[in-house]
Amino acid sequence: MDPDGPARYISASGAKSCAVTAPEARDPALVARQRVYAPASLVHAPAASASRANSPLLTDSENTESLLNILNVLDELLSAGTDRRIHYMISKGGSEALLMALLSVARSSSPNDSVLLPLLHLLAKLGHRDRKIGLKAEKMEAALPVLDLLRQNVKHARRAAACLWVLQVFCYSVSTATLLGKNRGLDIIFKLISPHTTKQTRTVKAATDTFAALLQAGLNSRLAASRGYVSGLLKLYEDWHQKDTENTAVPIRRALLHCLHHVTGNRAGRAALVADRGMELLYHTTQSCLSNQSLASLVEPTVQLMRRCHPKCPVPVRSGHSVYSYPLPGWPVLAGDMLAGSQDCSSEDDSDDDPRSDEPTCTELDEDLETDLNKLCVKPEPDRGMEQLDQYVSLCPELRHDFQDLDSGTEEESSDEEALLNRYLSLGDRGPRCRGRPTGDGHDQGNLKSQDQPGEGLPEHLRGRGLHSSYLSKSGAKKDVCGMVERLLEKHGAFVPNHDPHVYTAAASCTKSVPGFSVLAFPDFWGHRAPSCRERMAERKPNVQRGKVLEDIRRYLHPEDLINKVVFDLEDPSSRSCSERSDSLCFFSKFESGNLRKAIQVRSHEYDLILNADANCSQHHQWFYFEVSGMEADVPYRFNIINCEKANSQFNYGMQPVLFSVREALEGRPHWVRVGSNICYYRNHFCPVRPQKCNRYYTLTFTVTFQHGEDVCYLAYHYPYTYSALQTHLQMLQRSLDPRKVFFQQQNLCNTLAGNPCPLVTITACPPSRRWNDLQQLRNRPYVVLTARVHPGESNASWVMKGSLEFLCSEEPAAQALREVYIFKIIPMLNPDGVINGSHRCSLNGQDLNRQWMKPELSLSPTIFHAKGLLYYLNSIGRTPLVFCDYHGHSRKKNVFLYGCSVKETLWQSGSAIDTATLKEDPGYRTISKTLDRIAPAFSLNSCNYLVERSRESTARVVVWREMGVLRSYTMESTYNGCDQGIYKGLQTGTRELEEMGLKFCQSLLPLRRNSILHSRKLISQPSLLYDLYNGLQDHQSHNSFEDDEPPCVEEIEYLNASCTEHMADTLDAEVNANGLGSDEDEELRRPERKSRLIPCFMHRASLDTLSQKRGSRQATDISGQLFG
Ligand SMILES: [Zn+2]
Repeated sequence: MDPDGPARYISASGAKSCAVTAPEARDPALVARQRVYAPASLVHAPAASASRANSPLLTDSENTESLLNILNVLDELLSAGTDRRIHYMISKGGSEALLMALLSVARSSSPNDSVLLPLLHLLAKLGHRDRKIGLKAEKMEAALPVLDLLRQNVKHARRAAACLWVLQVFCYSVSTATLLGKNRGLDIIFKLISPHTTKQTRTVKAATDTFAALLQAGLNSRLAASRGYVSGLLKLYEDWHQKDTENTAVPIRRALLHCLHHVTGNRAGRAALVADRGMELLYHTTQSCLSNQSLASLVEPTVQLMRRCHPKCPVPVRSGHSVYSYPLPGWPVLAGDMLAGSQDCSSEDDSDDDPRSDEPTCTELDEDLETDLNKLCVKPEPDRGMEQLDQYVSLCPELRHDFQDLDSGTEEESSDEEALLNRYLSLGDRGPRCRGRPTGDGHDQGNLKSQDQPGEGLPEHLRGRGLHSSYLSKSGAKKDVCGMVERLLEKHGAFVPNHDPHVYTAAASCTKSVPGFSVLAFPDFWGHRAPSCRERMAERKPNVQRGKVLEDIRRYLHPEDLINKVVFDLEDPSSRSCSERSDSLCFFSKFESGNLRKAIQVRSHEYDLILNADANCSQHHQWFYFEVSGMEADVPYRFNIINCEKANSQFNYGMQPVLFSVREALEGRPHWVRVGSNICYYRNHFCPVRPQKCNRYYTLTFTVTFQHGEDVCYLAYHYPYTYSALQTHLQMLQRSLDPRKVFFQQQNLCNTLAGNPCPLVTITACPPSRRWNDLQQLRNRPYVVLTARVHPGESNASWVMKGSLEFLCSEEPAAQALREVYIFKIIPMLNPDGVINGSHRCSLNGQDLNRQWMKPELSLSPTIFHAKGLLYYLNSIGRTPLVFCDYHGHSRKKNVFLYGCSVKETLWQSGSAIDTATLKEDPGYRTISKTLDRIAPAFSLNSCNYLVERSRESTARVVVWREMGVLRSYTMESTYNGCDQGIYKGLQTGTRELEEMGLKFCQSLLPLRRNSILHSRKLISQPSLLYDLYNGLQDHQSHNSFEDDEPPCVEEIEYLNASCTEHMADTLDAEVNANGLGSDEDEELRRPERKSRLIPCFMHRASLDTLSQKRGSRQATDISGQLFG
């Protein structure tokens, strides 16, 4: 359409009827534009372009009637249609035209009221849809004249309100808002916010909204704080709260809260609010709002305001550094401090003006994609010389083994292993003798006694801590703990498959920890069996977080109500003494994988818990695992972990922590179970002792009602799986299999920094005979390399690995087939030291080992150095693995999924200009995911991706793909929570499902070797198995939504970005429309109509409702055809 087309309708005096009846007026926006600009073409041909916006008609105050008509038509058109129409008008310079007209009217000696009001109204409506209106006003020097206009009209309520709305939309631009603030805008507008009144409330509301808008500019906010406006605003809020007994002025009260919200965007504002007893006022007003439905909309802003102003408080620990520090080779003592220090930020400013989250946004992720073709396709030089690879020859015994025993029938190979096992077992046999001594009432007495027994051979951590704590001591079992343990083990212990408490005890006695653990956690000692019932995700109660936050604030307001008793402190052993009769729970965490630094009883049944940072580090608080005892049955206990770091957590989406009860175990139910109610995860007011890069903490709160009194229970982030458990498991596995069928070798890849062996397991099928052909077939089998647990807090990865290991050692035909076609090299725990010492992310070097793969240092990351060395070696002898997979856990997503590497997908996703059509890429990297999607219920194909990110270039997956040339190189991520698709939908994941995933992953490797398997003896003899393998198994297909991330949490986790501008915009139209009706005296604020006053009479009420719904839902359906056609 021609924007400068002839204005055939301008001569008509009744513009409104014209617009409705004119056949050409199909596009109301066009009509509107024509009506604004067309006169120009009559007066000054040729027509002004839209951007020139100097229409003489709009600036011609003489032509009042025409101008009014035009304003009416515009208003009508804009009100009845969709926002699309308004944006069209904006795009054609509508805002500039109106600003110009306004300037002209304002400059005249006596502004004509009948024009001024509609003009201001229209400008406000248009302006709040034009995000650049502020900038335009500033550029055209229209901002200050409107402020002047307001000053002249403060006594004229309707005009004042109209000016205020225009100023409010001008504040969309921070610089315009600042300009207004510098020109006494704050003072002028604040004066219009009166104490409680029933008169001219619309103007009061407009002033309050505009004041809030001004305060969004940082400079204005600081200015207001320094000039004492906080106190004034609080007084106003209190006054309205007290006197608005009919609750008719809720919007004004809400607007006052918005003002307070913005003025506390800086530290001075927050301090002023606290000093003026604002917290008390807000807390008490909230209480009355909570009980009144009509005040519900005030609760959330008040709570957010209190959260924001709650003074920051460092977590009550001596230093932010981990209690566990370990001297690193080549570094001075406390090197980790220095390492961690580099991440610290010296800034003490916590201005909170920046509401950005630390999580990368979508665009950031895209920018992170690797687009350098060299880096994607060219293999980098090896990080070491070939001569260094000789040492790995011994780690591939399968390539040299002669399988003598196959002929002789002796089992020489396993005799060494059995000797080792016997050594373990004999050590284990001595365990119960140690435990035989009756213990005192408290843990520590028991420990001390044991330490006083030199020559016992085993540290007292063989005792199975739970056994000699309160439960047993009160059960009259003091005399014969040893005998009881044995009896109990006989009765119940055998039920945990692939576990043996004796073997565990022996294995644990060899485990080296930084603090020198001397106690076993009962669940690890005793073993865990998955419960038979399915565990649903927890339902989140509405407003659970609000309740918790209000309790936190009550703590601040009434510190005298708090107990504040330190009941456990890892740094202060004296705090650990739990007396027999105590009103406090007893905590303990000094055992393998344990993590709890401090416990503080705050109320009789509420505890603040502080997690220990990763060893040699001051960050990564997430994993927890601790013992609790001394509880009463059926009493809810609230636990708050107050120094969590992640910005969100699956705890907000149905996940529960896990609990193990000693008493339940002894009664035959040795299960870790999901527990906890009233769970939520939210930003709190604590901060690190010393400022860090991320200077904020989050609370995970949950309530546990213990089933038994006098029990010993363990609570953890996720199902624990210790290093000693792995050692036990490997021993048990080896014991379970037939060494003439399964070649199973456990070797030591290397020692960790703390001197713990890092196991390397080789699994393949023994050859059917020692004939050359059979041996060659074995030696030519492709390799599959599996690793796990580089991140110690991801214990789910270990359970998945357990599933893989057990399956590969099993007698299942598919497992047999896998062994016959592959050699499996498995490093089940890449970070033993991290696991042992209860870290979440790092190793003893204070660094994430999964960021060291590019250039691992032998001295600081030995397990990565040698894992990579082994891969280099396989590479160098032409035996590059067919598949590499590193098992991980994912804390923000549900389901299980794979990350892989694809050049083409990375380039596509990044929008790179490189022509991918010429690139050749084997699509085989997708086969495993597709198979898993079919056979593994927990797996979600839609969550998989194959993008190479720069920030991940030093992870195992990317390095093995790029440097070793492994096409199928993956990270497998397992949720901590559960699934939102498939047959496990709505259920939390248990160890059974995790183990199943490990099994399914192995099964998914079969189709890669379909041809070889066809020759497999066993499968040929059982054709039905082949059918199962290829035609369905379970024929599971995940039905995923495309949203792989969680929706925003139902309650604000952060308290910075509680937004209020949308609400202002929603109501602005309605208030403007109402301002056009009636006189200043009878104006009322209640329930303003949203529609324009100029509703065409033929429009039925119902169609208006439809319209507003459509606009509300932002569906840009232009129904103008129906209205005007
Ligand atoms: Zn991980």
